[in-house]
Amino acid sequence: MPRHRPHPPVPVLLAALFIPLAAQEVSSPAASITAAEIRRHVYYLASDALEGRYMASKGYEIAARYGESQFKAAGLKPPVLADGKPGYLQPVPVQRRTCTKEPVLTIATPKGSLRLEQPKDFKWLDGDILPCQDRTLEVVFAGFGIREPAAGWNDFKGLDTEGKLVIIWPNAPLRKGKPVLPEAVHKTYLQAGGFQKKLMSLLSLKAAGVLLVTDPALAAMIDKSKPKSASPQIVYANSKAPAFIPWIVTVKPETVLAMMAGQAGGLKKAGEAEAAKVRPAALKGVTATVDVSFDSEALPSWNVVGMVEGTDPVLKAEYVAVTAHLDHLNPDSKGDIRNGADDNASGSAAVMEIAEAVARRPFKRSVVFVLFAGEESGLLGSRHFLAECPVPRDKIVADLTLDMIARTDRASESDRAHYALDTDTITPEFKKLLIAVNERTVRWPLKFERIGGAGSDNMTFANFGIPGVFFFSGSHIDYHRATDDADKLDYEKAEALTRLTYELAAELGEKPLPWR
Ligand SMILES: [Zn+2]
Repeated sequence: MPRHRPHPPVPVLLAALFIPLAAQEVSSPAASITAAEIRRHVYYLASDALEGRYMASKGYEIAARYGESQFKAAGLKPPVLADGKPGYLQPVPVQRRTCTKEPVLTIATPKGSLRLEQPKDFKWLDGDILPCQDRTLEVVFAGFGIREPAAGWNDFKGLDTEGKLVIIWPNAPLRKGKPVLPEAVHKTYLQAGGFQKKLMSLLSLKAAGVLLVTDPALAAMIDKSKPKSASPQIVYANSKAPAFIPWIVTVKPETVLAMMAGQAGGLKKAGEAEAAKVRPAALKGVTATVDVSFDSEALPSWNVVGMVEGTDPVLKAEYVAVTAHLDHLNPDSKGDIRNGADDNASGSAAVMEIAEAVARRPFKRSVVFVLFAGEESGLLGSRHFLAECPVPRDKIVADLTLDMIARTDRASESDRAHYALDTDTITPEFKKLLIAVNERTVRWPLKFERIGGAGSDNMTFANFGIPGVFFFSGSHIDYHRATDDADKLDYEKAEALTRLTYELAAELGEKPLPWR
């Protein structure tokens, strides 16, 4: 439902010349961002009628139309879309793919060929098979798959991994039985978290596929998990866009030892971690082909996009992006709707409120607001937004992503602190700016965490070298469950975080940017 608030009674810019600073702050358009308004959006988006806003569901469509109506009512401009017409709803090419034939990996080696079957020899764990399908891939061994520049270790140095199938050995390097990396860093790679860390550093390497050698410690867990091909998948079907999450499979150490046929350092046994025996190298004469087939069905889905044009004749060509994912999940195994109030009706509500405030008093730079489709299905909406960007992509100066901003994780219960997660591309100046803006405005306790390309749609921006920050309250007991409901949210906190994001957007929208 569209909604209007009265404009401030005085011409704001003129008044600003004469009134003291404290009063200026009162007149900030951020004052229109209120807990009550956020609450109203969240209760709507997280109601059962919207079915959890699962990608391509009727409920998602209703949510997208709601976003469109809010952007329109706030006076945002629709971008010109791929069809040459202006519109708030950017179609995202998405398919539901059902595996009709289990994937078979055929490996050619100088010593003969190997036929690998699922689940006997490998298991499809995650990612897109698309970049591997119908191609002959070169195979590269990337050692432990560890990149720890601070500790002087980089398994990927000098290796060309683009478009290739990359093998990653488990655990972390030893020299004469002792860890090469600092003790604490070494330890992370012996646990499930290290496995995750390796996956994250792989995202930027543009590999077509990754074979993760099963760590004996994780074997039981992996044995229990179902392969991705066991259920239909929702995929981003755009061959023009770069692959983002490579095809990721786990494979048994014996299989990999046979594939490598004595190359890459002299590895002979499963649990080996002596650095001298684990040598990254392109494997000569080793190639892989993947045989798989699917039934595909196109699904309708959209990003909701709106813009506020900048006021400066030059700077208006540049954009600040303020984004959140609108989608959530399908009903759980019991059929209960997972409303996703915190994840991410909260962030979506914030974007709508910030859009309204910016439209009331535009910045020098333009601002593009996006509610993304399909974040939960693999960042599909943001990948499409940036692959076929309705604003000039290289003119996006920064991205502010909000994902789950209205709950508090256990570690932060005492102060309701909020995480500002930065990606590898954030600059120290950006962080300084955020701290200064927070000090000057809402003064909400912030925790900073540096994440190597993890998180939300901010990852897609980071992949295109666009600096940004990801606001996130931390995970909680109701995360991805049917109990993530609107009555559990901390709306006062959401208001503070939304105002902070507005103020940060204002800073980015008005001032020279040290990283440009
Ligand atoms: Zn989320």
